[in-house]
Amino acid sequence: MIPDTTKTKRLEKDIQDIAAFPESEFAGIIREVGFECDCCGKCCTSEYNDHVFLMDEDTLRIVENVGMDYLQPAPYYDFCDNLGRFYVMGYALKSKTNGNCIFYTGNKCEHYDIRPAICRIYPYMLHREEDEHGNAGFRQVSGLGEHGTYHNELEDTACRDILEGVKKYETAFLKQKIMFLDLINNHFKKHGLRHKRQMYDKRMRDFEKGGKIEVYVFYNGEFDKNVISKQIINS
Ligand code: SF4
Ligand code: SF4
Repeated sequence: MIPDTTKTKRLEKDIQDIAAFPESEFAGIIREVGFECDCCGKCCTSEYNDHVFLMDEDTLRIVENVGMDYLQPAPYYDFCDNLGRFYVMGYALKSKTNGNCIFYTGNKCEHYDIRPAICRIYPYMLHREEDEHGNAGFRQVSGLGEHGTYHNELEDTACRDILEGVKKYETAFLKQKIMFLDLINNHFKKHGLRHKRQMYDKRMRDFEKGGKIEVYVFYNGEFDKNVISKQIINS
């Protein structure tokens, strides 16, 4: 089947909802929670985060500063065509063998100045979630109560900066996803390709056994071809 890109309408609506999310409400939540990072480093480990997704701007900054060696196609590829090639909406930072972020030294971020956008806004978010009745809402703080300190006094300017940063990040993420889905749709139509779930599973099994796979990563409006194996992304 052709990838289901009807999702883009939902994503466009999500962008509108983020823009319309009342700033006073979000600022109120930020102030009331009064979160402060205590630099425990858990968000850089596999205990908290499976992988660090990169927006296009992050990828560019990291490549310019430290090269491509720290990047991998973001895990959990979105599509696999009938020829066994995977497609995913962006890069991620590689992980160490223990699952921690490749930039994490054990007590600090080795490349803090060029850290990705998600690390700059964490743990704040405007992440759409539905409750058990199907009513949409937004999560605002990740891992609330599980890290950092709370009920600290935050300056108005700090709350405003957080608010702007989160809205900007979430909007950019959704826009990247829409552009990726549009490109996938055109690419599959143009080349007569189909998304094949069985092929996806088969190629992933090959990959788990050490085989090489082709992954096309959406970056800068195009697909970047990567040929990877477990050995390559763990090196
Ligand atoms: S890039 Fe730096 S701040 Fe972000 S998860 Fe990795 S070590 Fe942590
Ligand atoms: S954001 Fe949270 S998990 Fe990450 S270092 Fe700060 S307190 Fe720890």
